[in-house]
Amino acid sequence: MNCAREERPAIQIQNRETMASSSLSRVLPLFRVSPRRFPSLSPSLSSSSLAAPSALGLSASSLSTASDMSSPPQPVRPDRMPSTSTHTRDAGRWRPMCLYHTQGKCTKMDDPIHLEKFNHNAARDLQVSDADLEHVCPQDLDHFLVLDLEGKVEILEFPVLIIDAKSLSIVDLFHRFVRPSQMSETRVNEYIEGKYGKFGVDRVWHDTAIPFEEVIGEFETWLAQHHLWAKEQGGKLNRAAFVTCGNWDLKTKVPQQCKVSRIKLPGYFMEWINLKDVYLNFYHREARGMMAMMRQLDISVQGSHHLGMDDTKNITRVLQRMLINGAVMRITAWRSPKSPDRVQFAYQNRI
Ligand SMILES: [Zn+2]
Repeated sequence: MNCAREERPAIQIQNRETMASSSLSRVLPLFRVSPRRFPSLSPSLSSSSLAAPSALGLSASSLSTASDMSSPPQPVRPDRMPSTSTHTRDAGRWRPMCLYHTQGKCTKMDDPIHLEKFNHNAARDLQVSDADLEHVCPQDLDHFLVLDLEGKVEILEFPVLIIDAKSLSIVDLFHRFVRPSQMSETRVNEYIEGKYGKFGVDRVWHDTAIPFEEVIGEFETWLAQHHLWAKEQGGKLNRAAFVTCGNWDLKTKVPQQCKVSRIKLPGYFMEWINLKDVYLNFYHREARGMMAMMRQLDISVQGSHHLGMDDTKNITRVLQRMLINGAVMRITAWRSPKSPDRVQFAYQNRI
């Protein structure tokens, strides 16, 4: 296996890609999301469930066993299926994420109908087989933090998935809907109806959204729990990096939102991996966005495009496929603390 840091010839990539296709596209058939996700869900939120990030129920241990997340009748879990097996469609049936649960706020964990209807385990759709790991190269980082923000005027959604760089498994999930701080109530309602109404998740947004500065506070607690960052040390993540699809999220949007929310740009947002740049330099093929990368890699899109949680999972599947194909991730963009307005880039060839 050649894990040299150099860019590799396109022909070699093509061969490897053909040979080592991800288990995900083979195991999990594509089912489109139903347009209304939460037609009858009306949880009463308790203050205790709001406070604890661990209420996500997505600790590394719970993800590896995941025995408490399914309700009867219990489907065959994708991680128990060999990647080449044939199985009934229902066994790998895609379900929309419970967007209360992703935020630690689901109050229906004892309701079998709810559990059958919604996915309460993000790792379920992101399994990788042992055979797929054969071509994974050693990485400079231990963890990747896939991030895909939503919101043009202000940030509306902040989803992050931690991926283990060796096993490619999902370590944990952080997800919050974000309430704009400088927008009238009427404007917020219009904005959310236009953005999330079509996915049927406007109600869960209204039930759960909190201001950006609170999201950042909870996010930092969560990072610290995973030993990925320490407040007293400030600065960078600990052997981890954000992975985004493009530079917009961390080059443009987060600094803008920090100004609007009147907080300092946190040090851990100063560098990132733009997956499209690594993609271009690894496959020697240009892909303008997530959908193009997925199309070129023959990965089916799951869920609703531009719902941040679903996009983050789909970008994770692209990342997993690239790692399975032998890509080495590197920081592609960074700001120096001395001149934070200026962003420098690793690759000459970039999107
Ligand atoms: Zn739920």
